Amino acid sequence: MKDSNCIFCRIANGEIPSTTLYEDEDFRVILDLGPATRGHALLLPKEHYKDLFDLEDEVAAKALVRAKRIAGRLQAALGADGMNLVQNNGEAAGQTVFHFHMHLIPRYQNDHAGILWEPGSTTPEDMEEVRRLVEGQ
Ligand code: AMP
Ligand code: ZN
Repeated sequence: MKDSNCIFCRIANGEIPSTTLYEDEDFRVILDLGPATRGHALLLPKEHYKDLFDLEDEVAAKALVRAKRIAGRLQAALGADGMNLVQNNGEAAGQTVFHFHMHLIPRYQNDHAGILWEPGSTTPEDMEEVRRLVEGQ
């Protein structure tokens, strides 16, 4: 299903122009207009899924295989030193466009892109509680 009100549906299906790095029948990979680093790209399925949990397993599997291939090309082409794959689900997690996408973010030594987090703290009791809660699902 495609949603004509969704900007990523329109970009993925070519109704809105984008700088496209890769396209096949299921996905389009475009350059992000507000890149974290040079070459920051987005992998978009052509069908509308609001987030990871909305994806069919088959599409999820294909998305990772495509992301792996394009991220490798991107890293090599730009001479990047590393690569982050980031995928946000829900407003609290930083999702701003509610059409599933994966960020492919080339990293360069000392690029200072603010993608990683400060390590927090936990306790053995809370780790056990988390484990039990997940097991109960
Ligand atoms: P997220 O916060 O994970 O939902 O990511 C949305 C991303 O889409 C951000 O990195 C934006 O810079 C990017 N973005 C939003 N609109 C466009 C657009 N029209 N073309 C390319 N990238 C876009
Ligand atoms: Zn969409």
